[in-house]
Parts: sequence; C-alpha cells; structure tokens
Amino acid sequence: METCLKILRRAKRFFQLRMKFMLTRLSSHRDFRKFRCNICGKVSSAPLSIIQGRETASCYYCGSTLRFRSIINALSLELFGKSLVLTDFPNSSELVGLGMSDSEIYAEPLSKTFKYTNTFYHRSPELNIVSIVPGMKNQADFIISSDVFEHIPSPIEKAFANLYELLKNQGVCIFSAPYRTADTTEEYFPDLFHYKIVDENGKRKLVNKTKDGDIQVFDDLRFHGGSGSTLEMRFFSRSSLLKRIGEAGFVKIKVHEEDLPEYGIIWDKNSPVIISMSKIEESL
Ligand SMILES: [Zn+2]
Repeated sequence: METCLKILRRAKRFFQLRMKFMLTRLSSHRDFRKFRCNICGKVSSAPLSIIQGRETASCYYCGSTLRFRSIINALSLELFGKSLVLTDFPNSSELVGLGMSDSEIYAEPLSKTFKYTNTFYHRSPELNIVSIVPGMKNQADFIISSDVFEHIPSPIEKAFANLYELLKNQGVCIFSAPYRTADTTEEYFPDLFHYKIVDENGKRKLVNKTKDGDIQVFDDLRFHGGSGSTLEMRFFSRSSLLKRIGEAGFVKIKVHEEDLPEYGIIWDKNSPVIISMSKIEESL
C-alpha cells in the first residue's frame, strides 16, 4: 500500500514538473497575453489563439470565454456607460434581468447584483420565447440572449417580436448568434409545423408535417452540445440578422466589435460578435 502511494506521489510530481516545463516552453514560444477577467476579476493569461477562441475557456480561474466576457462588457457599457468588471458592478437589485440559458459562469454573479432570473426552455424557470405569457411583457430592464436564436423554430420574427415585448421601455437586450457574411439567412427547416425528432438506428432525423400536410424528413441535423432543443435551425447572415432586429422595433443597435485586451477581449475578424439593442418607445 505504501509503495503504491509512493508511486502515485512520484507520478503526480512528474506530471506537475512536465506541465510546468510545457507551460514554460509554451509561454516562451507562443504569444501569451495577460488580462483581467471582467467576470471573476482575477488576472489570468493565455495564448492569444486561446483568448480569441469565441467558445474556448480562457480564464484560468472561472473558465470564461471570449463570448462571456464580451457579453458582460456590452451589458456594463449599456447599463453603466463604462466597462466595469462584474465584481465591481454597483448593486442594482432594482433592475430586472432575464437570461436565456445563460452560462452559470456569469449567471450566478448576475443574480447577486440584479433582480436577475436565468430562464430555460425545458425546465423551470421557463421561458418559451415564441409564446410568452402576457404577465412577462414590459418587465425586463435587460435580457441576455446569447447563442439561442439559431435554435428557435421558424418563423423567427415572432421570437424577435417577443424579445422586444419582454423589455421595459428603455430596456436593453444583449444578443448574440452565430452569423456569417452572406446575403441571406439560411433557414434549414422553413416549413416547420408539426415536427418531431426521431431516432432511427442511432441516427436522429427530423420529421415534419407542413401546413399543407406534406411530410418532410431531414437527416442532416446539427446539434450544439446536446440534443432536442439544441438543434441548429438556421445560419444567420450578418446583414439579415441586423435587419431583422431593426424590423422588430429595436433601436440603438450596436455591434460590439472593439477589442478590449485588458479584459481578454480580442476578436478574430471572422467571429460573430455581441450585439446590443434597445427598446425606446417614442410616445412614452
Ligand atoms: Zn475569470
């Protein structure tokens, strides 16, 4: 038993030395950048290529990604007029915030600062953005909807209209969705009506009955990190997405493309960035 422990300790020590050696080599050969994570407030460092990975955990301490830090940066700019670290946000428990399947990495601190609720499609607290209950309208000072709208069944106009409805006057939505430079958004299933996902010999297929009663079967499905509601329904074009947001009534539409290296926000030019948009009703 003692020998066994000794071997384990030696193996652990060897692994640690090996990691240290590799990190030292990496830091001398790769473009390491130091930054203060604007979510946990800690000073971290990572190679530039890792920081620029939109979905790559790059804060050593909280695991935040470029997308998460950019969401908090956009939220801070819109609510406070400057980019603050989340741990330095003034306590604003009177402000009502809604998340749509937000990451716990920033949802948890948001819930301590604001009257914030993270909502989900499949579990409580529930929010189905294509069918909102009247009591939820005009309630939110801010909404975060990040990488959700590519999963919502068509027609997508209804979801954008409801996003607008959920906000109070002067409220802001921090939004993101994967997009590309193209003329139009590619809708994978434009005629969805009654549909279900079936499993046939280990392969998932989407079977849809259109309004006209036609049966469609799709077997080239793309899921994001799971199944069911994470099915990718479309690939937005950047210009169509911005146009759609404007058509829903949003104003002050801002595309947050600027880098903020001190907070580990350094964009690759092809990455879909964060968008903020406001509801401002002239008549009020
Ligand atoms: Zn962090």
